[in-house]
Amino acid sequence: MLAFVMFPIRLAPRQLLAVCSAALLCSACGITSAAAPTAAAVMATEVRTNIAAPSATPTATPTHTPPSTATPTASPTATPTATLTASPWPTPDAAARKRIVRVPILMYHRVEPLPAKSGLLRAGLTVIPQDFQIQMDWLRERGFESISLYDMQNHLALGQPLPDKPIVISFDDGYRGVYDFAYPVMRAHGYTGTLFVPTELIDKQQPDYINWQMAEELARAGWKIEPHTKSHVELPGQPHKYILYQVLGSMETIRAHVGYQPRYFCYPGGEYDAEVIGLLKEIGYWGAVTTRFAIDHQLKDAYKWGRVRVTGQETLRDFALYLAEPLPTASPTPAS
Ligand SMILES: [Zn+2]
Repeated sequence: MLAFVMFPIRLAPRQLLAVCSAALLCSACGITSAAAPTAAAVMATEVRTNIAAPSATPTATPTHTPPSTATPTASPTATPTATLTASPWPTPDAAARKRIVRVPILMYHRVEPLPAKSGLLRAGLTVIPQDFQIQMDWLRERGFESISLYDMQNHLALGQPLPDKPIVISFDDGYRGVYDFAYPVMRAHGYTGTLFVPTELIDKQQPDYINWQMAEELARAGWKIEPHTKSHVELPGQPHKYILYQVLGSMETIRAHVGYQPRYFCYPGGEYDAEVIGLLKEIGYWGAVTTRFAIDHQLKDAYKWGRVRVTGQETLRDFALYLAEPLPTASPTPAS
């Protein structure tokens, strides 16, 4: 079933912030979540090969085999090796508990032209390329520099220096327009992004999504490719093994393609609970992002970091308000 979410076409900033914090909204990721029975059936056949024997002889993982068009180097590494052996975070220093950092984590979905007769759901997920360009131009003008969640955590844990105005530019779901439209603009601005992908949807090579070659190219260009489950399911309440399958399987698939160990998770629908967080920690995730609104972050919230949702319906003035920046000069001011 498709998520049912209403988007007012033009929201006042305060309304929009409220919307950002509503957990149901990220079910507006625009993806039909895998139905549980299907997922369970898949799990029954795949869990065993993918994650049940992490320390044993690596076994073939047919579901992780990249498409035939992918580079041949990707598949041999798609084997579970270090699973269930959590790598610790960078050990926080004595000042870590008190550090708070302002790093807006922008949350985009689609960046592409809006098809005619698009519904409100699609409109609320789509930033058209012209608006995206305006937003990136403005970020550059305001002196923002893109960083990764790794950079942010290294700052919070160890005091590693950050640019004066750091920002994380993240994209959920792996839509093709991110590669076609957002990537060239960001590259021209010297920006890199963080892409959260449901790996099974990328495996399927659907035209609406990037493929693994594109993801690998983005990674080579400095982007971070990070997990958003395998099939875009909301995790709370699912069987433990199924959650493990989703969070570990997606982690391993991405590692096989991009050559590094992904460490940051994005909750489908923004939904999480203590069990999900516990599993993320157990298998070596260092943090996770939600759909809650926030621009200031602390290490203690590493598995609940909030973001700034960009719906495509906002003005540049709204965008500036989200980031607590001075408003663009053209904005009308009421007479006092
Ligand atoms: Zn999503």
